[in-house]
Formats: sequence, structure tokens, C-alpha cells
Amino acid sequence: IPVENFDLIIFGGTGDLARRKILPGLYRRFCAGQMPEKARIIGAARSEMDNDAYRDFVRVAVTEFGGKTASEANVLEEFLQRLHYVPIDARGDGGWADLAKLVRKDVVRAYYFSVGPGLFGDLAARLTKHGLADDTVRIVVEKPFGRDLASAKALNQALAEHFDESQVYRIDHYLGKETVQNLMAVRFGNMLFEPLWNSQYVDHIQITVAETVGVAGRGGYYDKSGAMRDMVQNHLMQLLCLIAMEPPSKFEPDAVRDEKLKVIRALDPVDHHHIVRGQYADGPDGHSYRDDAENLRSFTESFIAMRLNISNWRWAGTPFYLRTGKRLKARSSEITVVFKDAPHSIFGAEEGRHRNMLSIRLQPNEGMTLDVTIKEPGPGGMRLLDVPLDMSFADALGPDAEDVPDAYERLIMDVIRGNQTLFMRGDEVEAAWAWTDPVIAEWEARNDVPKPYEPGSAGPEDAMMLMHRDDRRWREIK
Ligand code: NAD
Repeated sequence: IPVENFDLIIFGGTGDLARRKILPGLYRRFCAGQMPEKARIIGAARSEMDNDAYRDFVRVAVTEFGGKTASEANVLEEFLQRLHYVPIDARGDGGWADLAKLVRKDVVRAYYFSVGPGLFGDLAARLTKHGLADDTVRIVVEKPFGRDLASAKALNQALAEHFDESQVYRIDHYLGKETVQNLMAVRFGNMLFEPLWNSQYVDHIQITVAETVGVAGRGGYYDKSGAMRDMVQNHLMQLLCLIAMEPPSKFEPDAVRDEKLKVIRALDPVDHHHIVRGQYADGPDGHSYRDDAENLRSFTESFIAMRLNISNWRWAGTPFYLRTGKRLKARSSEITVVFKDAPHSIFGAEEGRHRNMLSIRLQPNEGMTLDVTIKEPGPGGMRLLDVPLDMSFADALGPDAEDVPDAYERLIMDVIRGNQTLFMRGDEVEAAWAWTDPVIAEWEARNDVPKPYEPGSAGPEDAMMLMHRDDRRWREIK
């Protein structure tokens, strides 16, 4: 779908996020023919450089992170002509007049704050002061959006002084993933699932986001945050909302976000007996979490598993199990809806338990699997077998799968289109912190020590127990 002409200004345009995600993503959209002829990208950051030097920087970034398309040299050179650069100081007035001269007023203007949250307020104020902002510009901000309710409120307030909520796009790149959006299509586009989507038919729901990487290289930052702040409060909470929310009346930004907000507000406070915190121990490479974090007395969790309840009519009695961690056995993100047993087995107790499960894989191999029970083929009598009906997007889409935009590309294009559906609203973020804060405060007050776990495992044994106690088990991380 074509988008309007735009100037996208990337504050922090020389940073790691711009280099690895934003600029290569824009290049892929350019290759896909989605960038209008006069659209421009303006890098603005602290480093002193000119347009040519910035184009060299972007050429290297795109070549390294642009994927297959990066090999087409002449296309890349054409793309680079769309780039400009202005050295700027977010905390001073240097560079702002130059930026004001460059940015056009008659096109969509989007300002991407790809800088630490400490600069959001400064950037917002200077955009206004230098005549770069009005009520049509769009502001894109990155996580972390606060580290608790108070700081998130302060950030929202700093933005609200200059912009209306309808102008603010808070990115959670999990929401840009193809499968996450497909989750809404599956839930609300089919008759098949929605009637079963409640505590009467669903035994429990699991959400796992497992990473194999540790925190080496960003340990200083991570150690102040931990899995709860870094992953649960935002990404896992967003996934939980999409899986649990009521059908919005329309697929429109506020209709969807109103329903997500209600889920967060219906979350019960979580009891510490239903939380397992972990920290990876020494692996074969001799690096524990504490080594990587350069804090030998750290109590920060690199893993967390928890059991949550949503107190509303639909979900009362159906637990949600969330788990996420670093240095686990595989990189895998998956949501699984486990349906209840059939009320009566006509095949006899010896056939054991067969449960339908719908698994939505976010990575790797985005896709869905529905486990159904069938008769084991062959002459062995009536024996039952669970088989997956598998829909991998790569298989379903064939060669077109390569062209499926990644999360950042899709979200940036949504900003240009002015569609906020896949962005978090300020009140959602605050509600998520309001739920998270007391949980963290409780373990801080108790000086809770995370359980060590072996790198390459599925996390601490206690996380298994969290499920076993309820006569349930986690899906294998693979
Ligand atoms: P970075 O340190 O690599 O880059 C920071 C950028 O900000 C640089 O371009 C720098 O020139 C600019 N900058 C710093 N101070 C400035 C000032 N006073 N005036 C103007 N420009 C200034 O950081 P990053 O990793 O690119 O992260 C940017 C933001 O995105 C952070 O909030 C980070 O938490 C968030 N984020 C990063 C990633 C990632 O993968 N790197 C992922 C998610 C979120």
C-alpha cells in the first residue's frame, strides 16, 4: 500500500538501533517500492558529519544488516540519495536552525526519538521552540518507556506538554511481528476459535520468550532493569493483552487499545509463590550472569516465570503462565493455548490425555500449529495420536515470504500512514507499570535471591515446578 510523501527525522540516527534496525528496515521498504519518490530520511545526532559521511555510514549499516536486498548496489546508491544529516545537540540549541531549514512543512513529518528516554523531554521542547512541531507531526519513541510508574508518567507528561496523544507512537516491536497481527486475524476473523476462547474450554495459556544470548556487552544497562522490566512489563504484557482481550468493535487504534487496557486492569496482583526468578550461572564458557553484568553481588533476574490470573468473566479460572529468559536452550517465542480435555473419553482411560493446542510461533519460523487428535494410522486398533496441523508462513507464502516486512519496517510505515493500532497508548504503559511496580517492590523488600540456572537449559528447576504443581507442563523450548 503506498504511503504519502514524508520527511522522517531520526534523532540518534548514528546509534546502534538506527544502524541495525531502522535504516536497514527503511532500505528494504525502499526496495519494495514503498518509499514515495520525494520521501527523505534525515539523520540527526551528536556526531559531527556531513551528508556524504552519513551516507557512508548508512551504506555500511545496510550492507551488514539489510539482508538479501543489500547486494543490489545501484539501488542502494539511489536510496542513499534520500538521506541527509544534521549534527544536533538535544540539550542545546546547536543544529536546530539547520534542521528547521531542511524539514519540509507540506509532507508527513515524523520524528523518531531513537535516543535514551532522558532526552525525550529535551527533544520535544526544542522541536516546539524551533518551529519544527505542530499538531500534525508524529513522534516515535522507543523502549524503555520508564522504569516504573512514576518515571513513565513523567515521560508521558513531558511529551504531553507538546503533543497530543494521537501524535505519539510508542514502539513495541513485538506488536509489529506478522504472527502477532495474525493472532488478531485468527481470533476475530474465524468462527472456529472465538467461541472456545474462554475459561470454559481453555485449560491454560503459556507465553514463552526465550533467548540464547546473555547480557554481555549491555550488562550495565540490563542489571538495573532485569527480565521483569525489560521483557514482561512491555513485550509479554502486550502479547498477553492480544491473546486475552475482548473483540474490539473495529480494527481501529483506540478500539483495540481500549480492550488491551481492560486486560491489564483486570490482572490480579501476582503472589510471590507464583513467581520464579532466575539468574544464569557459569556456563562452559565460564561466564555467569554476574560476570556479564560486572556485578558479582547482583540480585537482578535474567529469567522469570509466573502464573497470572485475569479477573474477568471470560478468564476467571484459566491461568496464564509467562516465562522469559536469557541464555536458554533455544531462541524461541511462542504463545500456546491449551484447550481442556474432552469431557469424556469414549476410547478408555488407557488412551491417556489428548489435548488440543494452538501454538503461535513468533520466532523462529513465524507460523501456527494446531495439535489435533487422530487415529494412529495402521492396523493397531483404535489408538490415538496427536498430530500438528502446521502452518508455517514461509511455506504458506512461498517465495513471497522474503518480502514480508520485519517488525520495524511495518511499524515505521504505520507511523507514516498515521495508524496507531500497533502502538502502545500512554495509559496502557502506565497500567502495565502500575501492575509491575508492587511485584518488584515486594521482592526488593524481601531481598529475593534469583535461582541459578544452567546456561543452555530451560531455566531454573523451580520454573518447571510452577507448572508441575498445577499438573501442567511447559512446552519444550526448541
Ligand atoms: P546509542 O547509544 O547507540 O545511540 C544513541 C544516539 O543518540 C547516537 O546517535 C547519539 O549521537 C545520539 N545522542 C546522544 N546524546 C545526544 C544529544 N545530547 N543530542 C543529540 N543526539 C544525541 O543508543 P541505541 O542503542 O541506538 O538506543 C537508542 C534508544 O533506543 C535507547 O532508548 C535504547 O534503549 C532504545 N532501544 C535500543 C535498541 C537496540 O537494539 N539498540 C532496542 C530497543 C530500544
